[in-house]
This record gives sequence, C-alpha cells and structure tokens, in this order.
Amino acid sequence: MLTGTTADVGLIAASDGLIMLLGHGPWLVFTFCLGASVGSFVNVIVYRLPLGMSLSVPPSRCSACGGKLRFFRENLPVLGWVLLRGRCRFCGVRISPVYPLVELAMGLLFVGLYILLFMAEPGGWQWDVGGRWWAQQGFALGWPGYVALASLLAALWSMTVIDAKTFLIPIQIPVFVSITAMLLWTLQGLIARDIGNVWPIPATAWPATLAALLGLGGVLVSWALLATGRLRPSFADYEDYVPEGETLGDYPHARREMGVELLFLVPCLVGMGLGWWLGSTISGVPPVWLQALGASVLGYLVGGAVVWAVRILGTLGFGREAMGMGDVHLLAAVGAVTGWFLPLLAFFLAPFLGLAWAGIAGALQRVDGRRRELPYGPHLAIAVVAIFLCRGLVLDGWALLVPQISPPSRTLAMPESESDAPSGWTLAPEHGPMPYARDGDRAAMQTPGRRLNRWL
Ligand SMILES: [Zn+2]
Repeated sequence: MLTGTTADVGLIAASDGLIMLLGHGPWLVFTFCLGASVGSFVNVIVYRLPLGMSLSVPPSRCSACGGKLRFFRENLPVLGWVLLRGRCRFCGVRISPVYPLVELAMGLLFVGLYILLFMAEPGGWQWDVGGRWWAQQGFALGWPGYVALASLLAALWSMTVIDAKTFLIPIQIPVFVSITAMLLWTLQGLIARDIGNVWPIPATAWPATLAALLGLGGVLVSWALLATGRLRPSFADYEDYVPEGETLGDYPHARREMGVELLFLVPCLVGMGLGWWLGSTISGVPPVWLQALGASVLGYLVGGAVVWAVRILGTLGFGREAMGMGDVHLLAAVGAVTGWFLPLLAFFLAPFLGLAWAGIAGALQRVDGRRRELPYGPHLAIAVVAIFLCRGLVLDGWALLVPQISPPSRTLAMPESESDAPSGWTLAPEHGPMPYARDGDRAAMQTPGRRLNRWL
C-alpha cells in the first residue's frame, strides 16, 4: 500500500517528468524532423556528388524511369517511402530501403545530440561531453552551436560513405561545413547569455584570435592567387604520369610538388605571425563574438595544419603522396566546429583505428578471401566521434599520462580587471569567473529544477 509521502514523491516525479516533456518535447520533435530532412539531403549528396551531378537540379526522381516525386507528400523523409510502399509510382521499381533508413538514422542522431547536450544531468558521462554551458543556454539560445555540431555529424557520415566507396572526399562538403561553422559560432557569440567565462569550445585572447583571423586571410589570398592562375595547383601534371582510375600509380615528382604546397602556405604563415604580433600589442580581451569566431577559425587552421604537416613531411620522406588533401579539409572542418584541441586528439587516435581495422580485415580475408580496404577518412571520422563522446575518459587519461600539463579549458579569455571588460561582457554573479577545470566542469552548477523553470 502506498503511504502519503511516497504518493507525494511519485506525484512530484510525475510532474517533473511532465515538465521535462513539455519543455523538451517540441524541440525533440523539431530536431528529429530536421535530422530526417538532412538525412534526405545526405542521400542526395552521397548519390550525386561522386557522379559530378548538381545537388538541386533535377529534383528528386526515380533513378530507373526518371519519374518525378510528387512534391511534399512523397518527398517527405521516411514517410514518403512508406506511403509509396517502397516502389516507384510510375514504373514499380523497388526503391532501396537504405534511403528511408538513412533518414531515420539521421533523425535519431540529431535527437541523440539534443539529449546529450541539452538534457544532460551533472555527474554522468553526458555532462562531460556537453556540460554546464549547453544546459544553461538550452536550445533557444544554444541552437547555433548545436546546428554546427549536427551538420558536422551529417558531413562526417556523407564523407565516410563517399570516401569508402570512391577513395575520394569531395571537398565541397568540408568547406561548406567550415564556412557555416565560422558563421554559426559568431552568431552564437552574439546571442549566448549569462555565460561567465564558460564557452563550449576553447577560446583565446587577442594574440591567438588575431593570428587565426589573419592566418585565414592568408589562406584566402592563396586561394585568390590559385583561382587567378598566379599560383599553380600541386600535382597539376598528375595525369601525364598516372593513368586515370589508377590509385597507386607512380608519380615521380611528389617531393617537388611539396614545394608548391609550401608556397601556398606562405601567406597564411605570414598572416599568423603578423596577427600574433598585433594581438600582443592590444590590452584587454576581444568581445565574445570575436572570441567565438577566433576559436572556430583557430580550430580550422590547427585541424588542417596537423594533417597537412604530416602530408608534407611524409611525402618529402617517402617520395610519394602521403595523406590526401581531402583529409586536410576534413580535419579542418572538424576544428572549425569543435575548436583546436579535438582534431589533434582525433588525429593521434585515427592510426590506431586504422591498425585495428587492418587486423580485422586481414582476419576476415582469411575466411572469405575478400579484400577490404578503407581509406584514411573514415578512420579520422570515427576517431572524431569517439573523442567527442568520450571526453571524460580522455580527460582522465590525460590527467594520468601528463599531469604536469592541463588540457585546454573550454573557456573564454578573461579580462584581468572589470574595466578591461569589452562591451557586451556579462559576468553573471551566481557563476562568476572560475576556471573551467575538471572539477568545475563536473560540478552541479544549477539544479535541474531551476533549469526547467526557464521553460515555464
Ligand atoms: Zn520509376
């Protein structure tokens, strides 16, 4: 029999659950629909990009007879396929169930990311992935950061599938993600409220911020020189030596081509040096939106640089192309979304995944005789997701291995005194300036009840 108190507790728990559902329910439905629609676009990208087709023209149609899908009803993700019972309305050809399954999976992935970031409770492993900042902002104020991460997930998925099929990464995907991430983080810097010094990705003071921005300026200068023919692309005469379709051909001038790529990088390096020097002459810290943009751009440059450096050194050392430019763009896009630290960790984890895969593929080959080769991109993508999800484990491992060096904290650069604070700087008194170290990170800064009140 229930006593009065347990009934009360039950009632309170039920009403808490209801409040939770009322607050998050609409966003959960919204993120699922968003994810399913993105999944539908992912299907188009994975099918059309490797064939060099346009993404918007022609509109969705049957690949067998060319019959157009009736707008809206049959174009709906997941539901469209169910309504058609998996067959083309015109010719009756079976439509692969992979399409609705990808849409369903992407919808669930977007919902999963929402739960991870916005519904995490202090103390669990989820709290280490997202944490205080996301819980405080909620979806209403934290959506730009969420959209940046979600689009990275969708892009990693697309790039992995295309790379595994064709051994090529279409660079439009990572370049698109990088540009949108920089814009979204800037917007996030403008709309986030009461953040204290906590920021979801590591941000920096004036020197690194200006080094990143002028470094990006240098990259744009090189792109312009490349587009106007004043810089030549590397491996421009590749086809003269390696027949099309051959992946492991002997190209004799790989070392020479690294000189061309180093030349491309000169404006970027000059820009970074100049930015650092300029930044160290400015006192105070950049406004929040500029730190947010700088953090994203710095991540873009560091992510790209670590792969490119290994590409140049490896090619100079072995005399044949090491690591593709697709991988450079992939990790640069990861950095633009997650900041500069995660790409470094992922880059060092990926080779171990590659070794593990080689072992598994070798064992399977002995069973059925099939060769299973995977390019490097999928290993990078899996390493990125693993590092993102296991942030708590990574920090524990870090503290064990290199206790002398603390990993970069997910904070903004703080003004040394209140008078140095830039305009728009809001130091919420209840959070105050505090180092975003491990313990502060995990501490329960807000009770769940208070957080939910925001929705009422
Ligand atoms: Zn058809």
